Amino acid sequence: MRQYNSLRDIRADIANGQVTCRQLVENYIRNISEKENLNAFLEVFGEEALAQAEAIDQKMANGTAGKLAGMVIGIKDVLAYKGHSLQASSKMLDGFESLYTATAVQRLIDEDAIIIGRQNCDEFAMGGSNETSAFGPALNADDTSRVPGGSSGGSAVAVQADLCLASIGSDTGGSVRQPASFCGVVGFKPTYSRISRYGLIAFASSFDQIGVITKSVEDAALLVEVMAGKDEMDSTVSHRPVPAYSELLNTDKKYKIGYIRDSFENEGLNKEVKDSILSVKDILKEAGHTIEAVDFPLLDYLVPTYYILITAEASSNLGRYDGVKYGFRSSNVTDLSSLYKKTRSEGFGEEVKRRIMLGTFVLSADYYDAYYTKAQKVRRLIKEKTDELLQTYDFLILPTAPTTAFKIGENVEDPLAMYLADIFTVQASLAGVPAISIPVGRDANGLSIGLQLMTRSFEEPQLLAFSNYILDKITVEA
Ligand code: GLN
Repeated sequence: MRQYNSLRDIRADIANGQVTCRQLVENYIRNISEKENLNAFLEVFGEEALAQAEAIDQKMANGTAGKLAGMVIGIKDVLAYKGHSLQASSKMLDGFESLYTATAVQRLIDEDAIIIGRQNCDEFAMGGSNETSAFGPALNADDTSRVPGGSSGGSAVAVQADLCLASIGSDTGGSVRQPASFCGVVGFKPTYSRISRYGLIAFASSFDQIGVITKSVEDAALLVEVMAGKDEMDSTVSHRPVPAYSELLNTDKKYKIGYIRDSFENEGLNKEVKDSILSVKDILKEAGHTIEAVDFPLLDYLVPTYYILITAEASSNLGRYDGVKYGFRSSNVTDLSSLYKKTRSEGFGEEVKRRIMLGTFVLSADYYDAYYTKAQKVRRLIKEKTDELLQTYDFLILPTAPTTAFKIGENVEDPLAMYLADIFTVQASLAGVPAISIPVGRDANGLSIGLQLMTRSFEEPQLLAFSNYILDKITVEA
């Protein structure tokens, strides 16, 4: 079967009888089993997906199919799907089954998307390489000695390796954008609050945002358009009307674009990544867009502020996993206190425990003001400064990650190096603005390079349209 890069192509082939939903699902199931070594899926809902496919083929024949008919999707193991296991790639949730379906997932199903399985990720979405998963890392399909990025690593590999057409992930500090960059696909995180978080396992609630990983900008637009919007199960979700993003993908406007000067001077920035992003900048300039270097004096504060706040929120959110009502429980306990301690010590992996301890520390009475309160204030400054720049510029562009996909094990012993690699993605998360990573080149080893764009809150339409324009432009130039 041919490899599809967008729902549009699939729908055209379904319409002219070239393919059925059932054949699509069969094909993806075959690919998943042939590429099992990539460790992208923790579980495949094979029989169920095939049955769904048959039902949707019927609907297609009757003309009653929804707008995502033909779309075969994988979901990151942090999204609830009723009656299915849900583990956040952690031993802590061994044996846990969702009692309800996440709003975002339900909306996809309501439009006839087919959910093919649940995907590997960093444990509780904490990480940038998929190496903290209790089920071992997913592997980058371009070079299996390398990481796919994280935390939505399995989700990115699945799209990269044609194991499904699209994946739904979560992005707290870059977890959709960075793996998309490492795997040569599109990763889109909408504005904070654009999509209901009901049924998304909480990591850092004031940052957590559902996002999508796809091969085309159009599919990303379509999926977010279906998932976004008000939901009575999440009082923090935005009630703003949701534009039909997928119908607003053409633009011939000349934009004003800023790039943060110091981020290109960053010593950790790989030369090939830098050159690739700069060459896109030149192409855009040539095409008549205005591009200017801007200063962002808070660059050095991004990573520390992010890690103080997310560990604080995580330490509070993960307090619920205590072995009492559900999930893993240590078997050698003697009393209530040892039940808590042993369950949490044995159930959580190293990185999750590190973050719970850091978070507990920054929230402790003696240090609260010095860390947590201060970080909240700095976050406000970061948001204000970012919003201010986005008043002058339609977009801020920067690399998605300072390097291409690194070797498995390369950063495991050095958590700080791993955290610093989030330098370019956490700004959008701290500021709550939408951001996207699109594949714009490859390094000498053939590894993919992602360009990141941010825009003003709720201006997803121009972000998507301009990303589409850039990808077209690059293909033409190449
Ligand atoms: N790499 C970042 C972290 O470890 C991002 C995680 C995420 O977005 N879920 O926190």
